[in-house]
Amino acid sequence: MNILLTGGAGFIGAHTVVELLNAGHTPIILDNFCNAHPNVLTRIKMITGVLPKLYQGDVRDRELLKRIFNENKIDSVIHFAALKAVGESVAQPLRYYDNNVSGSLILLEEMQQAGVKSIVFSSSATVYGEPKTMPINENFPTGATTNPYGTSKHMMERIMMDMQRAQPDWSVIILRYFNPIGAHASGKIGEQPNGIPNNLLPYVTQVAAGKLKELSIFGNDYPTADGTGVRDYIHVVDLAQGHVQALNVKAREAGTHIYNLGTGKGYSVLDIVQTFERETGQRVPYVFKERRAGDIAECYADPQKAWRELNWQAKRQLPEMIRDAWHWQKNNPNGYENETFQAA
Ligand code: NAD
Ligand code: UDP
Repeated sequence: MNILLTGGAGFIGAHTVVELLNAGHTPIILDNFCNAHPNVLTRIKMITGVLPKLYQGDVRDRELLKRIFNENKIDSVIHFAALKAVGESVAQPLRYYDNNVSGSLILLEEMQQAGVKSIVFSSSATVYGEPKTMPINENFPTGATTNPYGTSKHMMERIMMDMQRAQPDWSVIILRYFNPIGAHASGKIGEQPNGIPNNLLPYVTQVAAGKLKELSIFGNDYPTADGTGVRDYIHVVDLAQGHVQALNVKAREAGTHIYNLGTGKGYSVLDIVQTFERETGQRVPYVFKERRAGDIAECYADPQKAWRELNWQAKRQLPEMIRDAWHWQKNNPNGYENETFQAA
């Protein structure tokens, strides 16, 4: 299939491009590089031997979308393009809703115009808010989001469900990611956060690399085994393969298809620190701080539906996720800008 990936140069997008190529599909990337580096394309070529086709531009640019759909016979779109920093979304809600909601509406309208009726949407476990029980399955209530980023994801889920109801021949696949971490085993592509990382793993790797002094652990008084927050960390390559599998199985089946993509296992912040130290031999100094506003105690998936219906499950365990994240960080101290990059 010819797959358009909006945001295809980003962290999850780039890994999905690689897995689509591995599976014999043809990815086409649209990205404005607001949170990505163009060198990712040459890195993808190092891994796969293929330089994917790129349109540099914004998903809100209707004329560009028309051109892409005219120039390529697109079978399905994976819509990754979004802004994703929770704190920033609280400070700049209009920018987030414009990018994440208006951008998605324009994309859907232009898909409609072009007769492309299959979309995979990057959603998030954040749409579940603070569930009363764990693990979380797809029938849990959604919408109790605590910040504009999460609300933008929930709004788009609802909008796409309404659209699919009105146009029943569409296939809408909503993938709710848990916590993607790790990097490609080659060490050639990985996560390059802008400025000081918000997420745990990139912060930990930068502390270990000596770029940041110490990790602040947000809260040690949660009702969890060791008092620190518990999350379902999933290797980004497993996540990418989940997209390929969802497309293979559901892209041609009309309906709205919703799946959790997680491992089903929860690890605490201290589990992450200890596993990191054991697997890499690096020390990660930390201090306990107040809980971070909006955080919940624990969050992990019931991944059974994806296993049952997509024949997909995450294969990589936490030590591998951590080794791959460290391998990427070590090989690329300056991310994609690193001139001294050595092929592994
Ligand atoms: P990322 O920032 O690395 O990738 C997003 C990509 O979209 C970037 O390359 C960016 O340049 C591009 N982009 C943003 N706005 C655009 C626009 N208007 N037009 C064109 N390109 C645009 O983020 P990621 O971690 O790869 O996340 C991908 C998707 O998954 C996002 O929708 C994100 O909200 C969602 N998600 C991510 C996580 C996570 O923890 N990484 C968790 C749940 C959901
Ligand atoms: N966390 C932390 N210190 C940090 C970043 C995160 O203690 O510098 C904790 C956070 O409170 C949560 C877990 O690590 O319990 C995962 O946070 P992250 O921001 O990576 O993902 P989230 O689940 O919030 O989307």
